[in-house]
Amino acid sequence: MGLRKILTDKEPALHKVCKTVEKFDWKLHKLLDDMRETLIESNGVGLAAPQVGILRRVVLVDTGDEILELVNPELLETDGEQVGAEGCLSVPNKYGLVKRPYYAKVRAQDRDGNWYEAEGEEIVARCFCHELDHLDGILYTQVMERYLTDEELNQDEE
Ligand code: ZN
Repeated sequence: MGLRKILTDKEPALHKVCKTVEKFDWKLHKLLDDMRETLIESNGVGLAAPQVGILRRVVLVDTGDEILELVNPELLETDGEQVGAEGCLSVPNKYGLVKRPYYAKVRAQDRDGNWYEAEGEEIVARCFCHELDHLDGILYTQVMERYLTDEELNQDEE
């Protein structure tokens, strides 16, 4: 089993700038495999390495079709905007209202170091931005407009 513990926002690791990945070795592959298992287990949409205490530029994003492995990701392009509810596995049981681009295109390396590009709209664009922020020690709670109230959350579920 490779489940890793997800840190919450009180941990210093979540507020640090992560380092570039230079070695595409078995350790990175193990980290990616463990993160994938952890993401699936926690029903998340995305997960960044600092959330499991590893200060490296590695994130996973579930596009709905597949779980993308993004190593050393960079935002290439954004377009439009969306304002909506956003949560984070490191900020349990809370949601905030966050403005993000409607569309985002990123460039990243795969687990073997090959560069590729990925793009997405709506929740995928939101997730790219949210996860990339984690690599610079930024949580959505620092960029949100406000937390959603319990009342608003209950309405969303109806
Ligand atoms: Zn998060």
